[in-house]
Amino acid sequence: MRCTFPQKTLQEVITFHGHSCPGLTIGIRAAELAQRELGQPEETDLVAVCETDMCGVDAIQYLTDCTLGTGKLILHDYGKMAFCFYDRKSDRSLRVLLRDDARGESEVELNALMQKIGQGKASTDDLARHSELRQSLIDRFLELDLEKMFILQWSNAKAPRPPRVLASLACAACGEKTMESRTRRFDGKTLCIPCFNAVEQKT
Ligand SMILES: [Zn+2]
Ligand SMILES: [Zn+2]
Repeated sequence: MRCTFPQKTLQEVITFHGHSCPGLTIGIRAAELAQRELGQPEETDLVAVCETDMCGVDAIQYLTDCTLGTGKLILHDYGKMAFCFYDRKSDRSLRVLLRDDARGESEVELNALMQKIGQGKASTDDLARHSELRQSLIDRFLELDLEKMFILQWSNAKAPRPPRVLASLACAACGEKTMESRTRRFDGKTLCIPCFNAVEQKT
């Protein structure tokens, strides 16, 4: 069945993200599936774990009440087109994974064109074909049955715990206060992550 969000809502998501693209549309359909299966935002207490840092995350943030700032959206950039929704009210969780064949037949051609564009070798015709295929992929994602688009994996896994509030320590290099659980030890000193990365690169 075609995407059930009203056109006005879809337009708002696009405005929030800055452009319309296939990745955003995947996120829109993942949010739709989560609401269909787990319930509307007022009926649930969702935590979303996004396994990608791509465009789709913006759709999740806009359409569910899971946002980075509230700690209800956790980003694990595993580079997978998967989103896991934990409902803390019902203690159920649903992971949705984009099916390999969801992109359809144009995937190979689209990837080849994207590579050409990345290498700066695309002709005007290539660019036109690329935007045509991109738009038809967006349309496809909006039309596709959710079951044909995603694999659904249910579990009773508990939502990841919100980060505990720990004491802040001053970084031995820059002096900036840093949450203890985010500090690193190096050569007997407590460092923040950027300072740790900087000394580690030198040695
Ligand atoms: Zn995008
Ligand atoms: Zn530091």
